[in-house]
Amino acid sequence: MKQNGPYAEIIVDLTARRTDRVFHYAVPADLKDRVKPGSRVLVPFGGRRLAGYVVGFGFPERDVKVREIAGIIDEEPVLTGDLPEIARWMAESYLCSTAEAFGRIIAPRLAVKATREVKLLRPAFPDDKLQEVLSGLKHAPKQAAVLREALRGAGLTRKELAAAAQTSPATVDALVKAGLLEAKAVPPSGLPGGGSAAGSGMMPLLNPDQDKAVKEIAQAVAGGGFGAFLLYGVTGSGKTEVYLRAIASALAAGRQAVTLVPEISLTPQMIGLFRERFGALVAVLHSALAPGERYREWRRIKKGQAPVVLGTRSAVFAPMPGPGLFIIDEEHEPTYKQDDHIRYHAREVALKRAQLAGAVVVLGSATPSLESWLRAGRGGPYRLLRLPHRVDERPLPKVCVVDLRQEMKEGNRGIFSRALTSAVFERLGKGEQTLLFLNRRGYSTIVMCRECGLVLKCVRCDISLSYHLDGLLRCHYCNYTTDLPGLCPRCASRYIRHFGAGTQRVEEEARRTFPGARIMRMDSDSTSRKGSHERIFSAFRQGEADILIGTQMIAKGLDLPGITLVGVINADTTLHMPDFRAAERTFQLLTQVAGRTGRGELHGEVLVQTYCPEHYSITTASIHDCEGFYRSEMPVRRALGYPPYSHLARLLFTHDDEEELKKGAGLAKEILDKIVTEHDDLIDVLGPAPAPLSKIKGRFRWQLVVKGPRRSLLRDVIKESLEELQKLRPAFKPAINVDINPQGI
Ligand code: ADP
Ligand code: ZN
Ligand code: ZN
Repeated sequence: MKQNGPYAEIIVDLTARRTDRVFHYAVPADLKDRVKPGSRVLVPFGGRRLAGYVVGFGFPERDVKVREIAGIIDEEPVLTGDLPEIARWMAESYLCSTAEAFGRIIAPRLAVKATREVKLLRPAFPDDKLQEVLSGLKHAPKQAAVLREALRGAGLTRKELAAAAQTSPATVDALVKAGLLEAKAVPPSGLPGGGSAAGSGMMPLLNPDQDKAVKEIAQAVAGGGFGAFLLYGVTGSGKTEVYLRAIASALAAGRQAVTLVPEISLTPQMIGLFRERFGALVAVLHSALAPGERYREWRRIKKGQAPVVLGTRSAVFAPMPGPGLFIIDEEHEPTYKQDDHIRYHAREVALKRAQLAGAVVVLGSATPSLESWLRAGRGGPYRLLRLPHRVDERPLPKVCVVDLRQEMKEGNRGIFSRALTSAVFERLGKGEQTLLFLNRRGYSTIVMCRECGLVLKCVRCDISLSYHLDGLLRCHYCNYTTDLPGLCPRCASRYIRHFGAGTQRVEEEARRTFPGARIMRMDSDSTSRKGSHERIFSAFRQGEADILIGTQMIAKGLDLPGITLVGVINADTTLHMPDFRAAERTFQLLTQVAGRTGRGELHGEVLVQTYCPEHYSITTASIHDCEGFYRSEMPVRRALGYPPYSHLARLLFTHDDEEELKKGAGLAKEILDKIVTEHDDLIDVLGPAPAPLSKIKGRFRWQLVVKGPRRSLLRDVIKESLEELQKLRPAFKPAINVDINPQGI
């Protein structure tokens, strides 16, 4: 017997089971007006209560016993607009269930809370009183720090200010009480439809390249259809200003704009810049927000009150009612790929959302990914916009490459070459600052000859071989294995061994080499406390140290005008990562590091130490020749069948018994091979081989690498193999995780 009225069709969150079956539930009378498509509800399932997502209303096909919805989780639907469709697309593209994709889109959990007004804090005294005020705070350094942050990033909230100054919100309150900071609900400047959306009078005059880029983007936004641009601009070329103007054009068209930045770039300055221009129209989304704040921002976005969204990766799921623009700054950054659970790429999600919504995507970078570069080429779907000059025509810094093999020959086996040592001394003498940059070591140990620079590679995959605990060198794509040579096969040197120093060792040696210099170190150990990374930067910016030592995190996004020397300790750590993107990453990092210097009044210099000075990623980076790099790298990718000319998937198998794991991974390989021969012989299945991190927390990890020219076919083949393997459980033991187009492999 059918009841009156339709039943809610619900996808139940059965995360472990990867099923997308729709179940029907009756809607109790008291929830009739509140249960809508996109609502998150609680339903009885088996003996439990589970979360579910309402995807529609209808009748079950067969006569089944229908149970009732037990409750509603959020006051209003959480999956609206294009988001349900995005979830289905994610399930298909990344081989997860729709329920998992729903969970990802709304995670981390939204808390239901009343919304509060946003209050932004600003200094409450005229500019010319600054010195006076600061000297009055001589004995309150924390308050002075807060004030300095308030001056730099106009309009931060109480908590943001406290975090930026590395102190408690009580310090901020003290300043408000003393009348030095005032809280203002910043008026929405230039609302949508009101002509210019920009409120601040401090907009710079665009240079001709910026102007052309802005016009093209604005025209596309006004057109209302899908469009994609690659904004290729050297560091310091003023890409941010182009973003801000493009956002204004989206507002003028009555649409919303999302800007994604890598985690590291979401600094108080960046937030301040957006708030300065767009006032209370800005919503900020990132992983460190408390649930209440996240919900507040989410509501403002959903209601269209905050049409300017700024955030990190997951902000790509922001619930705008009518998105018109998606901006991805530093689009080549690997952090845009979620690397656990559902392995989505924010760039791909943005492109898909833009297609569904008829919106424009702007991908910005000084070193575009090869994927985007290829698509911006002749006949490709992206339009290329160039900003070839730095604002103010400041020259790009001079980059010198130091050959460490030569140092070795002349008896210097230390971390610093003679050239770098004397360059640092020169800066110390002049009271200028130095950045010593150490590329983070990968998980694998690479063996290299320190006399000739040779690194052993897999002939088949062109991937550096990694040294394993069993004393063998292995390719972790195809599992080619060889003995560790006693002497270098090229130059017969006995200095062939694994290498690499951590930041601590660099710091120790720096203290020995430069006695008396004030040295700071910044890496994940020294910055695990929230906000302390911003604190170190701020101290360094204020001249509290002469030398800053750090990893990747110092390479990006921040203006440090006092630095005139950047030393790259060893470019080879990235260059020889066992990853097909090693050369690309090296080029990007060196370019970014070079972009850190010469931003202020002073000219900058970069010294790159390497055992492979002739490698094209180093030679092209040293002359800022991005296109030269692409000309060398693209043919390599094409010849070896790597992205962007193919798609590549990693199947990661884990289990706590290594024998079971190898057996299972071998079985998966057999099944895949069989399916591949049925479908298409262009798909390659490599491995199984130990993963780069071959054991984590007692669980062993092996992988298969599958590559092929067509993504949809690759996906189908993998999907079929997963289903086959599922049928073989429990005899087939390992857990499987699939990563389509992984960022690091
Ligand atoms: P990018 O993101 O391309 O590396 P930024 O956006 O950080 O470069 O711009 C570099 C600097 O130039 C910033 O301080 C910015 O305020 C300034 N700037 C940008 N456009 C202009 C312009 N048209 N005139 C003057 N200064 C500008
Ligand atoms: Zn050698
Ligand atoms: Zn190989």
